[in-house]
Amino acid sequence: MNPKLFEITCHQCNHQWFVKMDTVFHHEFQKNIDYIYDYSLFHHKCSSCGTIVKFVYPLVYYFPKRAIIISLGCEANNFQQAKNYRVETIETFCEYIKIADDGKDIDSIMALKKRLSQYQYVEYDGSDYDTIFFMADGIPIAVSINKDV
Ligand SMILES: [Zn+2]
Repeated sequence: MNPKLFEITCHQCNHQWFVKMDTVFHHEFQKNIDYIYDYSLFHHKCSSCGTIVKFVYPLVYYFPKRAIIISLGCEANNFQQAKNYRVETIETFCEYIKIADDGKDIDSIMALKKRLSQYQYVEYDGSDYDTIFFMADGIPIAVSINKDV
């Protein structure tokens, strides 16, 4: 929704082209969000030289039923009822969407993640009924939790 036109420049050959990209995503209308999880939403192939160009633009991802907004590099102003998480990287953006999509609470998961501070890079990696999974420096870690997290 709210498509906007963006100009992309290939860093390899300077070829420029325009793409029309959605800037607002409603979770209820997304049948498959793998293209966000695998970052292909942000990857464009240069038609001139074939280089894959990473292009990150401001967008918001909205979970109407959970009243959560995750915005990438922008303020989300028109969703007063929703709790807004503003993030600056596509990695965090995807991680937060994954947590919300799994029906988990972002703040609780981030609090759990902080407890794994002995690792350099920790990423949410899914959840079970009473277990949260993280990848910590490439090592899978399972954290057992109360069912209300
Ligand atoms: Zn190119």
